[in-house]
Amino acid sequence: MVSSLLYRGRFAPSPTGPLHAGSLVAALASWLDARAHGGSWIVRIEDVDTTRCVPGADAFILQQLARCGLISDEPVLWQSQRGALYQQALDALVGTDQAYPCGCSRKDIETALQNQGLSRERHQAAVYPGTCRPERGGLQGKAARAWRFAVNPASADLRWADLRLGPQTQNVATEVGDFVLKRADGLWAYQLAVVVDDAAQGITHVVRGEDLSDNTPRQILLQQALGLPTPTYLHTPLVMGENGEKLSKQNGAQALDLAEPLSALNQAAVCLGLPKAPRALSEALALWTQAWPYQPSAVQPPR
Ligand code: GLU
Repeated sequence: MVSSLLYRGRFAPSPTGPLHAGSLVAALASWLDARAHGGSWIVRIEDVDTTRCVPGADAFILQQLARCGLISDEPVLWQSQRGALYQQALDALVGTDQAYPCGCSRKDIETALQNQGLSRERHQAAVYPGTCRPERGGLQGKAARAWRFAVNPASADLRWADLRLGPQTQNVATEVGDFVLKRADGLWAYQLAVVVDDAAQGITHVVRGEDLSDNTPRQILLQQALGLPTPTYLHTPLVMGENGEKLSKQNGAQALDLAEPLSALNQAAVCLGLPKAPRALSEALALWTQAWPYQPSAVQPPR
C-alpha cells in the first residue's frame, strides 16, 4: 500500500432506501480504492432531494456500512445542511453570467421544442431549448422558477478518461443542454451540490456506479466554471436484476442482509472482479485491498 495524504475518496449515498447489492458495489469499490491508495474514505449523505428521501434511511445505511466494516474516516456530512454553500456557488455562477433564472414550465419546454420541430429526449428529459437564456431576452415577464447553468457551446464538447471505462466523450450543449442547478420547487440539484461538496471536502477520486457516469461531463463543466479542480473518476459495474435492468431501489432491490455482511460483500467483490474471500470480514477487506486492480502506480521513495 502506498501511503498518500493526497487521496481523498468518498461514498455519497442518497437516503432513498437501504443499501442493496448494487449500491454496496460502489461503497466497497470506493473504500478499496481509498485503502489501496492509503487515503481517506468519507461518507456523505446526499439528501438534497427531500421528496425522495426516506426518514431513517440515512442512519440505516450508515449501520449497514458499519456492519460491512466500512466506516467513514471523518464525520459524516449531510447535504441538507449545506444550502448556504450551494447558494454561494450559484451566486458566483450568476455573477459571472454562467447561470440564469428560467421561468419555463415542463409544458413550455415541450411546446418550444415542438415549435422548433425538435423532440430531443434524453432519459425522458427534454434538452432545454434555451428559451430563457439572457441573450434571448431572459424571463420576459415570467416569474423565475428554476436556475440553469448556461452551457457555453464553444467549450461543451467534453472528453475525459474514466479509469475503468476508458476515454469518454459528451457534448453537453447538444446532448444535455442548460441543466438545472436549483429546481422550481426550491431544492438544490444533484449536479451543483455534488460539485460543491466534492471540492469543499477536497475529494481527489470519485468512485461510483456506472449509471452516474454520464453526469460526469456536467460536473466537469461546473468545476471549470467555479474554478474548482476535477477529481479522477472511476465508474464501477452495475449489478443487474433478474429482469436484466440495473438493480435499484426503484425496481425493488432487496436491502442487504445485515446478518450476513460477508456474503453480501463477497457478491459485491465478485462483481468487481475480485476473488471470493471465505474468511473473516477484516481479512476479506485486506485481501481485496491487495487484489484491487486500480492500484496507484508505485511511487519512488525520496532518496
Ligand atoms: N447520491 C448519488 C446516488 O446515491 C451518488 C452521487 C455520486 O456518487 O456522485 O446515486
